[in-house]
Amino acid sequence: PADKEKVNSVAKIKVVVRKRPLNKKELAKNEKDIIETLSNSLVVHETKLKVDLTEYLEKHEFVFDAVLNEEVSNDEVYRETVEPIVPIIFQRTKATCFAYGQTGSGKTYTMKPLPLRASRDILRLMHHSYRNQGFQLFVSFFEIYGGKLYDLLGDRKKLCMREDGKQQVCIVGLQEYTVSDVETIKELIEKGNATRSTGTTGANEESSRSHAILQLAIKRSVDGNGSKPPRLVGKLSFIDLAGSERGADTTDNDKQTRMEGAEINKSLLALKECIRALDNDQGHIPFRGSKLTEVLRDSFMGNSRTVMISCISPSSGSCEHTLNTLRYADRVK
Ligand code: ADP
Ligand code: MG
Repeated sequence: PADKEKVNSVAKIKVVVRKRPLNKKELAKNEKDIIETLSNSLVVHETKLKVDLTEYLEKHEFVFDAVLNEEVSNDEVYRETVEPIVPIIFQRTKATCFAYGQTGSGKTYTMKPLPLRASRDILRLMHHSYRNQGFQLFVSFFEIYGGKLYDLLGDRKKLCMREDGKQQVCIVGLQEYTVSDVETIKELIEKGNATRSTGTTGANEESSRSHAILQLAIKRSVDGNGSKPPRLVGKLSFIDLAGSERGADTTDNDKQTRMEGAEINKSLLALKECIRALDNDQGHIPFRGSKLTEVLRDSFMGNSRTVMISCISPSSGSCEHTLNTLRYADRVK
């Protein structure tokens, strides 16, 4: 009962916005910071033009579970978002943390350190509170690019997904490493991140078109002597989503880009619907809409938890994308 209370005390859906500072490029272009933040709300000051071309300001106010401004460190982001859900994955819960936003808004900057901090806390719990209880931590890391899966810890090998009839998702051949120390996890995460980024930066950066999924699974050996494979207890997934503006690449001249844009658009729309469905237990979960939501289906079922970190740029030049991101986040809640 005490454990159940622990799970119930964590909100099913938490939506947090993170605003990054203006960067050098934006400062050089003399772009203004148009985002005013409070502890759990923010105002976007949009400059619009009248028909006679005079300017006027339009204010858009949004309320979220928390708004993290440009002074908030990655440590504080961890404390606000992931730290509270770490203990409940020992209580048969699946939890997912998403970073959503346009390319350059800070998704990767925000997501990168989170799995390592979470692993540290998970291992601490395993070695203390759950000592000698047969728990093990597993790490896997893959990406979805153009609707296909690639193993980031297995030389970018193409992977297939299978449904096992017991509502578990099985990705055939996905490398899963057992880890018992922070140093090994750190190396694996770095390896995966290096495999992900193709080195190119700029408008066509590949990583902005893929969803990167890092999963920490907690399993438990039921028999003690290890003759049976350990059983899944809980899972914590970290998802660095494709740039939200990529979903609009559906009118590009390049066919490949257009198809990728359509897939990203579909996956972000399906994701929103799946998260919304978490709030009504009996509801139908529309995970069949995209590869992303199919892969995450077991994290949308039962007693799951979701944290959405919506990343935004403060600059006037990103106003339209920022409003789109905030409207998406608003609808998830
Ligand atoms: P995305 O993954 O959304 O495309 P990145 O995480 O790569 O964006 O961030 C773009 C740039 O902005 C990077 O150079 C990153 O270091 C910087 N940046 C992002 N968020 C912050 C922040 N909160 N504080 C300082 N720099 C940031
Ligand atoms: Mg990125």
